[in-house]
Parts: sequence; C-alpha cells; structure tokens
Amino acid sequence: MKSTEVKAFGAKTNTADLEQLQIDRRETLADDVEIDILYCGVCHSDIHTVRNDWGGSQYPVVPGHEIIGRVISIGKNVSKFKEGQLVGVGCMVDSCQHCQSCKDGLEQYCENGMVGTYNGKDEHLGGHTFGGYSEKIVVDQKFVLNVPENLDTKGVAPLLCAGITTWSPLRNWNVKEGDKVGVIGLGGLGHMGIKFAHALGAKVVMITTSPGKSEDAKRLGADEVLISKDEEQMAEHAGSFDFLLNTVPVKHDINPYIGLLKRDATMVLVGAIEPLEFHGGGLIMGRKSVAGSLIGGIKETQEMLDFCGEHDIVSDIEMIDMQNINEAYDRVTSNDVKYRFVIDMQSLKN
Ligand code: NAP
Ligand code: ZN
Repeated sequence: MKSTEVKAFGAKTNTADLEQLQIDRRETLADDVEIDILYCGVCHSDIHTVRNDWGGSQYPVVPGHEIIGRVISIGKNVSKFKEGQLVGVGCMVDSCQHCQSCKDGLEQYCENGMVGTYNGKDEHLGGHTFGGYSEKIVVDQKFVLNVPENLDTKGVAPLLCAGITTWSPLRNWNVKEGDKVGVIGLGGLGHMGIKFAHALGAKVVMITTSPGKSEDAKRLGADEVLISKDEEQMAEHAGSFDFLLNTVPVKHDINPYIGLLKRDATMVLVGAIEPLEFHGGGLIMGRKSVAGSLIGGIKETQEMLDFCGEHDIVSDIEMIDMQNINEAYDRVTSNDVKYRFVIDMQSLKN
C-alpha cells in the first residue's frame, strides 16, 4: 500500500525523551479522511504509554489522541466530510463494527478489540498505529468527529479524550439536576468533569489533594471544594454523594471515597488501572457500587461535542510547542498543569 512520510514526535524506549521521528501515513483509501493536524492535547495516558506503566507498549510510541485538524482530502466513499472542514479524532481509529458493543455504538468496548489511535494494531501498514503528535493522520470516516466551528479550536482538542471520558459516565449514570456529584482529582479529566457536571445542573464538589486549586475549581463550576487529606472535612461529607467520578491516575486508597457515597450510589473509576483494595463492608453497608468506564463511543462523542458547541464549553489549556513536550510531561507527572497542555502542531511543521 502507498504511504507518505510525515514528521512526528515519539519515544524510542520507555525511558527515552520524546524526539522528532519520521513515520508513514497510508494513502487516503475509499473510506478515509486525511487530516492536517492543528492541535493535539497531552493526556496522562500518553505518558503512561510512553513509560510503559500498563505494559505492552510498542516502540517507537508516537502518542496523542486529542486531535483537531482540517480535512485535506477524502476517499471516494466519504460523504460526511469535505475538504477544509474542522474535524476531530479521539482515542480510537477502528473497531470490528459487527459485535454487540459496536452495534450499540460503544466501539470502545468492541469485543474484538478496538484499534487505539496509538499503540493499536495497524491493519493497513502493519506494525502499530501512531497518534496525533504528528503533522497528519489518515482515519476511517467512522472514527472522525465533526467539530463545532463556534468554539475556540485550541480548547476543543482535549474534549476528544478528557471530555468524552468524563461526559460518558456522567450520562450513563444519569447525573441530573440537583444531584450531589464529586469529581476526584483536578487535572485534565477532572476539570472537564466539573464543567460537565455543572452544565448538567448538578451540585458539584471538587475533591482534591491540592488546596491551592480551590479557587480554580470554583471558577470552573464547583460549588464546593473538599480537601481529601482533611479527615474532618471528609467526615462532614460522609454518606452524602449521589455520584463520584474518580480521575486519580495512580494506585491509591479508595476506601475513604466509598465512605462519601450515599446508599445505592456509585463511584466510577477512570484513572487507576491497577489492583485497588476496598473493604467489602464499605459497599455492603449501603448497597454501594464501584464501577469503571472507558472513554466513550463515537455517537456519544459527537453528542458531547455538539453539547459543548451549544453551551460554549472548551478545555482550559496551556499551549506548548512540540519541542517542549518532555518538559510538559514532567509537569503533568508533578501535578503542575492548568489544566491541559495542547501542542501547537505548527511548531512541528516549521
Ligand atoms: P492529570 O491531568 O495528571 O490529573 C490527575 C489528577 O489526579 C491530578 O491533577 C491530581 O489532582 C490527582 N492526583 C494525582 N496524584 C494523586 C494521588 N496520588 N492521590 C490522589 N489524587 C491524585 O491526569 P488526566 O489526564 O486527567 O488523567 C487521569 C487518569 O485517567 C490517568 O490515569 C489517565 O491515564 C486516565 N484516563 C482514563 C481514560 C479512560 O477512558 N478511562 C481516558 C483518559 C485518561 P488534585 O491535585 O486535585 O488532587
Ligand atoms: Zn487520553
């Protein structure tokens, strides 16, 4: 199959810095959309994958799954998109399309395994897929999203992962007006969680380890801030939450958070992918649940983007050049980002 070389940034080992590389992009096939990448968000998952925190990373890793760009060319079967259109690509670029999950519009749970935007199996060129830290990408139209033109384009990029990953559980667990919702961890995902829960009419409590983020949390839409390290404050909120969204990226003690849930309420984990311990009694005494959630399907991602267009919601970002990515990674891991880094891909093209 024909392909073209493009510039990208990636890591050659799990301890290496990211550096400039050349990668191949396939020719635009009948169902494909070729996209000139304008911006790409920096997700904590990019760092986990580069560092091989979850195992199974394949190198070089070219991360990036919060992609915004403009259509350069389309294949002959593409009718949904046209040249010049503003589009997005999130965490997936393919799935089997025939299992029950795919039929239900939940491609992220594809029973035959969805193809990740990076570190997925590349069925076209062989090897593994390369993400959005690059000049261009070619994606099947089914996994391309339409981006509302009225939004600030730079702040839209993080919606493709941080946005949908928080939107999907809030919708699936039917968070509604008047519910008391706690968002645990004010980072990239957490700040979108606050914005969405607030927009859905919930009473939002930011649950954070960082007292210094209190003012920001309120500006972003939190009604209250709860410092999780303060046992007295935690006791005041015990048994009071209808829903908790836990975005903590590392192994941590979830028992204190379970204590915050009301009877029949659920805490959804989206961050920590590792063995966590909880006390059975904490769930049994109150019929509580701990659940998990992975990004969101294509249909609900489009719904989320349209909702953002209507409600003027974007991410709060700090723009960086591609060449500053290693410093940005250090800042994310040391909890120093407000609240998402976005790469200006022009810096790679110059
Ligand atoms: P992030 O920007 O680094 O934010 C994580 C936040 O968690 C931090 O800002 C911090 O907030 C809090 N935190 C950090 N270490 C903590 C600790 N030891 N104990 C308690 N809180 C801690 O990360 P992100 O990009 O939002 O991603 C969050 C996690 O979700 C990552 O693991 C990522 O891989 C995962 N993720 C999952 C999905 C999915 O589909 N399930 C999708 C995308 C990302 P405070 O300072 O407020 O405490
Ligand atoms: Zn992500």
